[in-house]
Amino acid sequence: KGNKQTGWNFNNSYANLPETFYTRQLPTPVRAPKAVLLNESLAQSLGLNIQELQSDEGSGVLGGNAIPEGALPLAQAYAGHQFGYFTMLGDGRAVLLGEQVTPQGERFDIQLKGSGRTPYSRGGDGRAALGPMLREYIISEAMHALGIPTTRSLAVTATGEAVIREQDLPGAVLTRVAASHIRVGTFQYAANYGTAEDLKALADYTIHRHYPDIKHEDNKYVSLLKEVIGRQAALIAKWMQTGFIHGVMNTDNMTLSGETIDYGPCAFMDVYDPATVFSSIDSQGRYAYGNQPKIAAWNLARLAESLLPLLNEQEDQAVKTAEEVLSGFAEQYHKNYLDGMRKKLGLFDEEPEDEALIGDLLSTMHQFKADYTNTFRILTLGTTQESMLSGTPEFTGWLERWQARLSRQAQSKTESLELMRNSNPSVIPRNYKVEEALEAATVQGDFSVLHRLLKALSSPYDYSCADDEYTALPEPTARPYRTFCGT
Ligand code: AMP
Ligand code: MG
Ligand code: MG
Repeated sequence: KGNKQTGWNFNNSYANLPETFYTRQLPTPVRAPKAVLLNESLAQSLGLNIQELQSDEGSGVLGGNAIPEGALPLAQAYAGHQFGYFTMLGDGRAVLLGEQVTPQGERFDIQLKGSGRTPYSRGGDGRAALGPMLREYIISEAMHALGIPTTRSLAVTATGEAVIREQDLPGAVLTRVAASHIRVGTFQYAANYGTAEDLKALADYTIHRHYPDIKHEDNKYVSLLKEVIGRQAALIAKWMQTGFIHGVMNTDNMTLSGETIDYGPCAFMDVYDPATVFSSIDSQGRYAYGNQPKIAAWNLARLAESLLPLLNEQEDQAVKTAEEVLSGFAEQYHKNYLDGMRKKLGLFDEEPEDEALIGDLLSTMHQFKADYTNTFRILTLGTTQESMLSGTPEFTGWLERWQARLSRQAQSKTESLELMRNSNPSVIPRNYKVEEALEAATVQGDFSVLHRLLKALSSPYDYSCADDEYTALPEPTARPYRTFCGT
């Protein structure tokens, strides 16, 4: 099929980087590719023809069996700190097909994840199982609807092949759409394994692609670091406000674009507790909910280290500049976080005691094991008697302070409620609902549960259609919820 019909419109700017940054790599064909989940609205915004994508030929492309005209598949090289330890990585089970240039002129990476072995696969089989790919689809699309910058999911394509894990599982390929796949780890790779020219080429490319406004600044590399810090400070604040726990914030899983990437063991917190960890491999709690801002700062310090040769010719000056710029993260994060939390409480202006007001609500939730999302939902709905905190002196006292605070601002109660409705999701991807949908899809082959969940997650701030099914808490269980790295 010609690209006129399918809508594919590839450009391959990443391939213009020095060759050390990638290896040309075709996806490995699979036995029986069948797109089992297609994101129609995303396809449309990318300029793709939905009927063509839904056809057998469309599945062939999404499964990696056919390469659209103009695509130049490659596996990207990168390194990274995993749980604090530096190592060489790279796309071990993914290929970048190319960059889709949309009818609006925007550029998005189209990546096939689970597409077979590459030179960076080490011991791995290059494949992915259906369950985790559906999970990435669900959570990334939920994040997008929540207004949190993220890579997106265009399709999940069953391969018709089994992947061998602890047990045989159905295989799948995820079609991931991203502003780019440039990671902190890509810069670490350049700094550790590349030449000075390689590093400069990568930095220039990143500026051109994501921060074109700083291109003509005196020290554009210092500006690059500042910009990335700004985007990450905004991103992590949003994670924290919605109770999102990434689970594996290794430096290779942090983008220069400021999008959330690599949905492995991530999950949303239920009961408010800064120590919450879901990932089965994070026994030390390195990536616990409450640690995320600190870890982000640590990762950004690794980015700054990689950029040092570009920041200043004199190393001691470069280090000084890096430290100065890095110190801005905590402040920016804090400001973003407070601003967002004020909105969750319906506050338009600022008072010095706001931080204590927010902190005291959180400690009360922590003390009485209250659900994070539903506590804010209940405050939004005004049904505080339904809260498990209801009747405690802590909560009663807090409600009085909050009401007094609301009445001190110029805006009306109606305006506050409107702000709260737009800032407190009614529906999040609750872990047990996600599991239920995955179980129905992967065990029974019934995708209807998953489709209903995706529909509910697509309008998280819509209180009018809020269905109890998606706001109800799980039945208490003896075992804590556990997540696993992308299998
Ligand atoms: P992740 O945990 O998804 O961030 O992946 C970390 C690294 O492991 C990346 O280099 C992946 O490409 C690689 N990797 C993960 N799973 C596999 C697999 N099944 N086969 C080959 N490489 C893999
Ligand atoms: Mg190469
Ligand atoms: Mg990764």
